[in-house]
Amino acid sequence: MAENKNDSEGDKSETLSDKNNPYDAIIIGAGAAGVGVAIALVNAGIQNYLIIERNTVGSSFASWPDETRFITPSFPSNSIGMLDLNSIAIGVSPAYSMRIEHPNGREYAKHLQDLAKFFELKISNNTNVISIDKNEERFFIKTDSKTFYSKNVIWAAGEYQSPSINVFPGSELCRHTSTVSKYGDLEGDDFLIVGGYESGIDAAYHLAKQNKKVRVFDMNCPWGELSSDPSVALSTYSFERVRDESFENNVELFSETKVKSVTLLEETYELRTEEGQLFKSMVKPLLASGFEGSHKFVSHLFEQRDDGFPKLNENDESTIVPNMYLCGPSVRHDNHIFCFIYKFRQRFAIVAKDIASSLNLPTEEFVEAYKSWGMYLDDLSCCGQECLTC
Ligand SMILES: Cc1cc2nc3c(=O)[nH]c(=O)nc-3n(C[C@H](O)[C@H](O)[C@H](O)COP(=O)(O)OP(=O)(O)OC[C@H]3O[C@@H](n4cnc5c(N)ncnc54)[C@H](O)[C@@H]3O)c2cc1C
Repeated sequence: MAENKNDSEGDKSETLSDKNNPYDAIIIGAGAAGVGVAIALVNAGIQNYLIIERNTVGSSFASWPDETRFITPSFPSNSIGMLDLNSIAIGVSPAYSMRIEHPNGREYAKHLQDLAKFFELKISNNTNVISIDKNEERFFIKTDSKTFYSKNVIWAAGEYQSPSINVFPGSELCRHTSTVSKYGDLEGDDFLIVGGYESGIDAAYHLAKQNKKVRVFDMNCPWGELSSDPSVALSTYSFERVRDESFENNVELFSETKVKSVTLLEETYELRTEEGQLFKSMVKPLLASGFEGSHKFVSHLFEQRDDGFPKLNENDESTIVPNMYLCGPSVRHDNHIFCFIYKFRQRFAIVAKDIASSLNLPTEEFVEAYKSWGMYLDDLSCCGQECLTC
């Protein structure tokens, strides 16, 4: 995991509670979701909380490949009431504070660290959560150093640190894109990439810029998908890249092509497809197969949906363990996928309001503020519509 050099807020877990004096809320993970929901708790008047983070603030972003940038643009549109797409807090604009439209991972990690500092968030850094259990009204959160107690727990541990690696026989011979520090440093001239959604196209683009030959395989056709939802189709940013001259000259896209296996014979990797095609390369294939997600770690605390994601009530709380919440890209309601920041941030205040109400704190003003910034989505019937007139 890349070191987060700019993290300076230190360990603020000194308000440590005990069994008889638990925290009101503990958040696991200090990424976009954990920091965003912590700010919502603070805005709702909740003081007795703690974020537990296994590394430092924004560490998933800090470990992105050097060349990878946000596909969602930042723009200082807050002055007309349209919150910057990459913002996680009301009134905040990464575009304004960083003067960058498509931040890279390190830049966004720094933005999260700056927010943590500004809001004086209480964080226990370098603390890995090992298990969570509930007994009567208390959660016991065991970490590698000590046990924490809380009335409410918010799981915001993300997906990036839980990549999908066992996806077909021989996938262990491949390299997941989340382990690449810099595409420009990869040796070889002929790359096979399994997965053609955002990460796969991102990898192909940066390799093509280096004049490397790339073949991308996807069982679907993300670059042909007509949906307007970037959780389903490629983003505009990636479509622009697909039209780039170096991409057109160097990248071959194979849609509806499911990879069956990868083998290594002497020094040659052989990739076979379900359709019986064979592709060879001397370079370790890249896996852009997405992420399993850390929610598997807390599967005992949530009922599962048919697609394996946690089942949530209207407050993003577990349907079987009260006071256990989920925040971030694994949030699903019906067929709505909250995998981008501008989507899942709309649920932070829903969780914060529920916890604040249980503590008898007034929530009207707080909810109004989040609503006015488009950060309070309690009516899901409006989501998922295509723009039929575009
Ligand atoms: C290549 C790429 C490009 C992307 N581009 C965009 C984009 O342009 N726009 C957009 O909106 N989204 C984008 N996303 C998605 C976005 O990055 C994620 O949705 C976002 O990072 C999720 O935030 P998070 O806080 O849930 O997870 P993370 O940022 O992964 O944070 C989770 C934190 O939890 C900590 N943690 C995990 N397990 C434990 C544990 N057991 N104990 C303690 N701490 C733990 C981790 O150290 C980490 O800091 C992109 C994703 C990728 C991979």
